[in-house]
Amino acid sequence: MSNYQLGLEFAKQQDQNDQLSSFRNKFHLPKDHNGNELVYMTGNSLGLQPKITKDYINQELEDWANLGVEGHTEGKNPWLHYHEFLTKTMANIVGAKPLEVVVMNSLTANLHFMMVSFYKPTSKRYKILIEADAFPSDKYAVESQLRHHGYDHEEGLILWKAREGEELANYEDLETILKNQGDDIALIMIGGVNYYTGQFFDLKRITDLGHSYGCIVGFDCAHGAGNVKLNLHDSGADFAVWCSYKYLNSGPGSLSGAFVHERHAYRKDLNRFTGWWSHNKQTRFRMRDEFDQLPGAEGWQLSNPPILSMAAIRASLDVFAEANFDKLCEKSKQLTGYFEFLLLELNNSDIKIITPSHPNERGCQLSIQVLNADKSLHNKLTEAGIITDWREPDVIRCAPVPLYNSFMDIYEFVERLKTILN
Ligand SMILES: *Cc1c(COP(=O)(O)O)cnc(C)c1O
Repeated sequence: MSNYQLGLEFAKQQDQNDQLSSFRNKFHLPKDHNGNELVYMTGNSLGLQPKITKDYINQELEDWANLGVEGHTEGKNPWLHYHEFLTKTMANIVGAKPLEVVVMNSLTANLHFMMVSFYKPTSKRYKILIEADAFPSDKYAVESQLRHHGYDHEEGLILWKAREGEELANYEDLETILKNQGDDIALIMIGGVNYYTGQFFDLKRITDLGHSYGCIVGFDCAHGAGNVKLNLHDSGADFAVWCSYKYLNSGPGSLSGAFVHERHAYRKDLNRFTGWWSHNKQTRFRMRDEFDQLPGAEGWQLSNPPILSMAAIRASLDVFAEANFDKLCEKSKQLTGYFEFLLLELNNSDIKIITPSHPNERGCQLSIQVLNADKSLHNKLTEAGIITDWREPDVIRCAPVPLYNSFMDIYEFVERLKTILN
């Protein structure tokens, strides 16, 4: 649908026609001091709380209160297997097989654990390629891996940069880098959806290209999971990681997901860090056995996991399953397309959308560059009851999330923005 229209009536009509509009009521929407609902556009940073989350967590608190340690086996949702309740829905959201997915640890930690197995530098091939404006934590992580293996983190890091005067990374430039330096690169690690520009990369294209030069290819999908169809299995990527507190609405600091491609599922030659939770489930509690590697992504677990956080993830994944991820992605394209339409209609030279205009090359986020790099615009939006976030040097990131944002949210956003700009 591309015949968007200006005006309040159109926004109202779209919300009325939206089959998913009732999902907004399943979330707690933040309010201002006077009790008025805020326009929340930062689900890309911290997703909102589903109303059922409290019940899911309370269930586990109750089992803990009533059963103590027996909750591991006798609880309503036995804790021993709790992470398995998440696997299928999570795998569906990221487009993977259940064998390829596990929920464990937090995001940057998982990135390191993946690199323990998949960054295997040799004296001839040790460099790591990342996108130039990668999320800082990812950059710090790969730099420290370089140092950990005894390499200089500046010399060992190759940056895939946007061209002078452009904001988006260009595939031709990646091809050129690989043509010239592909044999030096051990690992390509890219943010599947760039946190700053909102650019959704073609994971399969990057993976195929990387593999053709003998590189391992992994993605940080923190801004992709629950936002776009990642199709991780079909992409052929070696590994991926993501967090569950952004689009996956599982609460601040909640656990991360990890994907390891099926082709690595039964490998015993990969170096890994292990713990009792990486050990064969059948014999884990004999406690005296020699280590027996659990197959698939689960084999990368170390510890018994925090059930209270997992309960929040489970609640959120149940909401996703009820809404249907395909339908959410459909709505997302309409919401963001409408948002783009209204912003472009403002025709204001102080702002510019830097996110790709093609719906297949972005998720729901639009990054609005403020041309005089003035943070006061962001502050004024906040005062006007609109929650967005500012990213240095000059971008306001806005993410209308199809689960709980409405066409009216977008209409209100742009109306208030217009007033501020004038
Ligand atoms: C949000 C985000 C992080 C945050 O990492 P944590 O370990 O969860 O604190 C890291 N990388 C990317 C790409 C992100 O978007």
